[in-house]
Amino acid sequence: MSDLVQDKELIIGWDEWVSLPQLGLPAVKVKVDTGARTSSIHAFMIEPFTRAGKSRVRFGIHPLPERPDITVFCTADLVDQREITSSNGESEVRYVVKTLVRIGGQEWPIEISLTNRENMQYRMLLGRTAIGGNVIVDPNLSCVQGELSAALYDELPRAKGPRKNLKIGILTREPNNYSSERLVAAAEERGHLIELINTTSCYINITSHRPEVHLGGKSLEGFDAIIPRIGASITFYGMAVVRQFEAMGVYCLNSASAIGASRDKLYAHQLLARAGIGMPDTGFARSPKATDELIKFVGGAPLVVKLLEGTQGKGVVLTETKKAAESVIDAFQGLKANILVQEFIKEAAGSDIRCFVVGNKVVAAMRRESLDGDFRANLHQGGQAKQIRLTKEERATAVRAAKVMGLSMAGVDLLRSDKGPKVLEVNSSPGLEGIEKVTKKKIADLVIEHIEKNARPPKVIKPRRL
Ligand code: ADP
Ligand code: MG
Repeated sequence: MSDLVQDKELIIGWDEWVSLPQLGLPAVKVKVDTGARTSSIHAFMIEPFTRAGKSRVRFGIHPLPERPDITVFCTADLVDQREITSSNGESEVRYVVKTLVRIGGQEWPIEISLTNRENMQYRMLLGRTAIGGNVIVDPNLSCVQGELSAALYDELPRAKGPRKNLKIGILTREPNNYSSERLVAAAEERGHLIELINTTSCYINITSHRPEVHLGGKSLEGFDAIIPRIGASITFYGMAVVRQFEAMGVYCLNSASAIGASRDKLYAHQLLARAGIGMPDTGFARSPKATDELIKFVGGAPLVVKLLEGTQGKGVVLTETKKAAESVIDAFQGLKANILVQEFIKEAAGSDIRCFVVGNKVVAAMRRESLDGDFRANLHQGGQAKQIRLTKEERATAVRAAKVMGLSMAGVDLLRSDKGPKVLEVNSSPGLEGIEKVTKKKIADLVIEHIEKNARPPKVIKPRRL
């Protein structure tokens, strides 16, 4: 922060043009109000948040009353939350930020409270704590330190993307992982507000007239879009939270039902098969009497046995012979585990392809390969990844698989077989780290761009005449 203070005498009138350089506001007309202690500014969408252990606050400003088209989103350190009584005697708890004010070539730090009274004539009041010893207020004068033009705003860089200032929530239990951080950075760079919401801390108010999601005593309101990142261990609860946001009319990048469909491996395979999408021949049975038939269904050994609840390659077993297949199937059934039996795609030889689908497009693809001769290519099992060029058919298959599941963002895993691409699974919360690093594609930006195109504009409710 600059250590410039009011070193020279400065005469100001009862109103003045100031700039707030740290907030990105080159010109704001303030009313000088020595009757008020603290300075205040008219802000909207005031959102406190914590990043890297620091309390910060984001807010929107329409700095010029006569130019409502100009919106600036500011972020500042939060220094206090204080009960403030305004000139009309009303008191409210306000967030207070500290920032530099510049008037007539001098600048110094001041505290400003954020308030959202739309009817304030001036966007900002300069209170007496902001006026130091060298400043003389002459109430007979107006704008003695000169005018600042609205054109200063036209020179500022515009936020990227067609729709600005959406309020986006990421449902996640891992606010600090790579995927969350990239989505936050991409959204902020494009001028949106983005909040990380801990899925399992949310609680739900199920009422027909006013569905709500709550967190820490507060109702989560005003979201234009939700990005669900629901881990496999909390699918059930996560789906309920997403469903609730859907009931509130919020655009959810992946719907609860789509997440549920992709999580249920058996149901997912049924959906894919019904749509005629290539996949390894697959059988499912409960009774041990069916084992023989099941092995025949998938063309005999070698074959793959999969636990329905497995992820990251755990619970996926390759059995080389019919005898081995029988004993593995018997063992799992003995444990009352739900399993799939699947044709082994030998040509894939320990590698699979992850296609990252956003909307109707594969935006990135990588080939994962096991390093130690394992037939499973999962990176969690020690695999390695490289960028890959997909065939037209592979691209189309991945896009269709995501579509059949109803997912707008998906990681579609497929195997390259002699008979074309075979879909293994469709993931509704695909990670960004591996694939962004390997392909150097900015996938997070494409996800946010997709949301900009698809989030419905907020409903404007007209007041009803009584
Ligand atoms: P998980 O959900 O645990 O990742 P997958 O079904 O994706 O389970 O299987 C893990 C890995 O095992 C795949 O990435 C692939 O490399 C290999 N694999 C799975 N099924 C087959 C199959 N039918 N034929 C050949 N390899 C397979
Ligand atoms: Mg997998």
